[in-house]
Amino acid sequence: MNLNIVCIPGDGIGPEIVAEAKKVLDKVAKKYSHNISYKDILMGGASIDACGEPLTDEAIATAKAADAVLMGSIGGNTSTSPWYKLPPHLRPEAGLLKLRKELNLFANLRPAYLYKELKEACPLRDDIIGSGFDMMIMRELTGGLYFGARSTKEVDGVVTAVDTLTYTENEIRRIAVKGFDIAQKRRKKVTSVDKANVLDSSRLWRTVVEEVARDYPEVTLEHMLVDNCAMQLVKDPKQFDVILTENMFGDILSDEASMVTGSIGMLSSASLNDTKFGLYEPSGGSAPDIAGKGIANPIATILSAAMMLRYSFDLDREADAIEAAVQKVLEEGYRTIDIMPQEADKRDRVKQVGTAVMGDLISERI
Ligand code: NAD
Repeated sequence: MNLNIVCIPGDGIGPEIVAEAKKVLDKVAKKYSHNISYKDILMGGASIDACGEPLTDEAIATAKAADAVLMGSIGGNTSTSPWYKLPPHLRPEAGLLKLRKELNLFANLRPAYLYKELKEACPLRDDIIGSGFDMMIMRELTGGLYFGARSTKEVDGVVTAVDTLTYTENEIRRIAVKGFDIAQKRRKKVTSVDKANVLDSSRLWRTVVEEVARDYPEVTLEHMLVDNCAMQLVKDPKQFDVILTENMFGDILSDEASMVTGSIGMLSSASLNDTKFGLYEPSGGSAPDIAGKGIANPIATILSAAMMLRYSFDLDREADAIEAAVQKVLEEGYRTIDIMPQEADKRDRVKQVGTAVMGDLISERI
């Protein structure tokens, strides 16, 4: 298969972690006979420095022409970097928001998977963790409260702020279809999260999700109110497979779910449009505090590359191979600094490695 991938190394640790993901992808390409071509584009601070804006039209056109985009991260130290003295529309994150909009990326996927080797990083009790958990938070990314009309005005001497939460049935249907498609590749269960006891938008959400579910008889659908879901995520996370929800609920629940897995350096993510196209990136930021030191954890980016193979190219066997290689390296006791055990006596049992060695170890195990 020919894979035409645009890479956005970005800022901070971005170039270091993207280099390791490419290393692993190259190994996959060699082993399974694929041709991967890469093209880099600038975004964020790197683009501000080179082009005076966080994302150029030329870079957008290049990204649109690709099959998928693999990103590191963008941004710098928000207190000290000169990029944050610029007006908001010229700052690094404006590039990412523009790219998401241009590429119509409405479905955000964030897996929350607990590796048994990293159980100590999970803040939940052992009896709750059990044999671990593996869920996918599917968040609608371009509608709802964050994109509705808003205003703040003074009426009769009282300041009033208004935000509006709007969803059309079409916006709900397209994310629901993605959610059920993804559940079919997993354990075939969708938990649709809403606040249908109060909100009209949630009642429409529920109706449309039920309509979509009829096309997926092999997938089990359940509905859960968002407040209950927030509790269930820490009470019994094992019950979840795919959590399907709207923008703001997903924003909050995906952060909660990621915290129960421990390290930010392990968390991959994908943002998809209504074709197979997607933008794949680690959930963390550009970590300016450790940039250039060769110690960043590349696993989240490597797992994002696995998601790219699975969701943009339907290469499940190749994605499985990457995930199994990550699992193996952890089982063998290799750790980057962020996932080292806190207790001194447990450190003897593991081996600390840097970014490039972690990439080598994973690619050798493909
Ligand atoms: P951050 O995620 O960059 O860092 C938070 C902490 O996690 C730091 O201590 C960092 O060293 C650590 N960390 C993050 N990724 C790691 C990795 N792969 N390996 C080891 N440790 C890792 O968050 P922040 O410090 O709040 O933000 C820094 C910059 O990143 C800001 O400019 C912010 O806007 C940007 N940011 C970008 C994205 C993105 O590109 N999508 C997302 C979030 C934040």
